[in-house]
Amino acid sequence: MSAWTLGAVQARGMQLEASCKNESCRHFYVFELGRLIETVGADYPISDIPPLTCENCGGPLKIELAMGHQEGSA
Ligand SMILES: [Zn+2]
Repeated sequence: MSAWTLGAVQARGMQLEASCKNESCRHFYVFELGRLIETVGADYPISDIPPLTCENCGGPLKIELAMGHQEGSA
């Protein structure tokens, strides 16, 4: 993956998401980009995000970029 920053993700209207790798859990998270940028700054590279664990099962999370979801879509 290229050097995406939080600011670049937000500027493109994309979302930063994480999904649990545990197949029996599959918990799904959407990061609050605005809050992240307030905390660590818009220049923070996504590749610098430390490994995260699932709050539900404690398994590893996979971080990924996604296009912004339209409100009201399933
Ligand atoms: Zn999980």
